Amino acid sequence: MLDKQQGARLANLWDDAKAAGMSEAERLLYRSNLLGSDKRITNYGGGNTSAKVMEKDPLTGETAEVLWVKGSGGDVGTIKMDGFATLYMDKLRALKGIYRGVEFEDEMVGYLPHCTFNLNPRAASIDTPLHAYVPKVHVDHMHPDAIIAVAASKNSKELTKKIFGDEIGWLPWKRPGYELGLWLEKYCLENPKARGVVLESHGLFTWGDTARQAYETTIEIINRAIAWFEAENTAPAFGGEAKPVLAASERVAIAKKLMPVIRGLISAEEKKVGHFDDSKAVLDFVTSTNLEPLAALGTSCPDHFLRTKIRPLVVDFDPAQPDVEKTLAGLPEAIAAYRADYALYYERCKRADSPAMRDPNAVVYLVLGVGMITFAKDKATARISGEFYVNAINVMRGASGVSTYVGLPEQEAFDIEYWLLEEAKLQRIPKPKSLAGRIALVTGGAGGIGKATAARLMQEGACVVLADIDETALENAQNELATRYGKDFVRSVNMNVTSEAAVETGFGDALLAFGGLDILVSNAGLASSAAIEDTTLALWNQNIDILATGYFLVSREAFRIFRNQKAGGNVVFVASKNGLAASPGASAYCTAKAAEIHLARCLALEGASAQIRVNVVNPDAVLRGSKIWSGEWKEQRAAAYKMDVDDLEAHYRERSMLKLSVFPEDIAEAIYFLASDMSAKSTGNIVNVDAGNAQSFTR
Ligand SMILES: [Zn+2]
Repeated sequence: MLDKQQGARLANLWDDAKAAGMSEAERLLYRSNLLGSDKRITNYGGGNTSAKVMEKDPLTGETAEVLWVKGSGGDVGTIKMDGFATLYMDKLRALKGIYRGVEFEDEMVGYLPHCTFNLNPRAASIDTPLHAYVPKVHVDHMHPDAIIAVAASKNSKELTKKIFGDEIGWLPWKRPGYELGLWLEKYCLENPKARGVVLESHGLFTWGDTARQAYETTIEIINRAIAWFEAENTAPAFGGEAKPVLAASERVAIAKKLMPVIRGLISAEEKKVGHFDDSKAVLDFVTSTNLEPLAALGTSCPDHFLRTKIRPLVVDFDPAQPDVEKTLAGLPEAIAAYRADYALYYERCKRADSPAMRDPNAVVYLVLGVGMITFAKDKATARISGEFYVNAINVMRGASGVSTYVGLPEQEAFDIEYWLLEEAKLQRIPKPKSLAGRIALVTGGAGGIGKATAARLMQEGACVVLADIDETALENAQNELATRYGKDFVRSVNMNVTSEAAVETGFGDALLAFGGLDILVSNAGLASSAAIEDTTLALWNQNIDILATGYFLVSREAFRIFRNQKAGGNVVFVASKNGLAASPGASAYCTAKAAEIHLARCLALEGASAQIRVNVVNPDAVLRGSKIWSGEWKEQRAAAYKMDVDDLEAHYRERSMLKLSVFPEDIAEAIYFLASDMSAKSTGNIVNVDAGNAQSFTR
């Protein structure tokens, strides 16, 4: 991605040497990826590209004209070859014969699969007719902030003419679909010299005879708009600064307090994950004079408000006289008011066949002087929603600086939000996983059981914060899990669980990363072995510090968050068989493990009225992947049993009732059970995962 520091102009990244050996379809892919690599050219998932290519028909062997166009649901920046739909142009043209008029345009979507070339399984998008009917070989449709700023200005037609003369035309707002495709065709036929067209409240179409020409036209046109705004939009942004910006550390501290409380208030139906953004673009907006009136107008480009809801919630906070407690106290009412307002909007605009009202909670929360918080069903969606609102801020900045910014009319916005074709897309999304939207913190997260647990929870859709004292192992674990489950799902914090300050900081960082907490897995540990007369005070204290005090400190912090968040909570302790069964030569370890188990029972009792569950998993002899079992402890145990270290695993297996080895994944499975709703009615329990050991039967 281009860095804004390099200057406001988009660079022409076309490389003929690279493009030379490519097929026409490959050049389309190359151009698409170049365009999508810069958010100023188009937002994530927004816009599409196409090329009309002569191909050999696999059925007849004859040459056929084929439209290659970005398929449904893709992103031009990351699209691959299989992301394009391919359709026969002659069949697409034949559709005109069965078109019954604009009130029936949605039914045309059902005919697109009949035009598929070469059995391509990629579904064609709603924008397909827009590309098909522009009578040009290469067509780009982008959502550039600088162009939408023109498109969302009150006098956008006049501005388009002023900036681009006759080179770029203008079409009034029209929801994307079959009819808009016909409008574009008509425009091109009547204006053969035009190089593109601005769509009111929406974006840009540009075209060319070659892939390179189309790409360069798109870049040139956007650059011209950027340059024009640079010259014309010289007044202070959004009416100038009205409120001070708080220092970075204060902004973060306030976000950490607000996020779990907001999350608790909006997660009744579905758990949400949060994202915080205090970039300059956001801060300019949330300190400005015109923040409230502009925010109330709502976003313009349909892509923007589908992600951000029609308007944000402006949180009542005064950075000139910061009083977070007052803001927190006012949140329930502000959020309820937003929901009521959304329900009224739904009632005002709904049609006979509209889908049922969706989640009425705000997605975007603007905090004066602090920044922007977004909440969605998962981290990636929350992050992307934030990016979209930054796009919307850029648009408002441009439009309100040179003209009057206009949002999309409410009914038009509603018709897109509750479009039956959009609803059909939502219905196709697979059911959420069992831990979708849940946020977990796992101590000892870089070790064997910790990492296996994180993986198990992430596999079920949870976001996980790995907490560990071993920096290198932590980094490796985070990278490994990010590769397996996606980087939006995992963060790491350096945490010494015996330090009150470190625990507080680590949990705070977790809140900032994901917006809240649902699950604590307290697992950080060590093991030691010594006869009682050889147990030094230091060794005794070390066991008590890490195992008993460490579990206390992280639980206390989790409880504090759970109580603020008011959405229940879940704690799982990884204790040990030795917490129930005495073992020779390990009194410090066994005693501390017993303390953990009893602490869990006390907390189960205390947390129940707030729907906080606390349970224990007791592993035994999990050697593989364990940091505890590397080095001294392993040797000490082997010595105690008078055997070779390599024979330990077999020894433990044979000792167990079921004659099975216990692996980190087995412990993780039990933790997942206790952390999930499968065990919704269990608290204060112990699950032994030790392949059977009569000594540790609970009683
Ligand atoms: Zn569009």
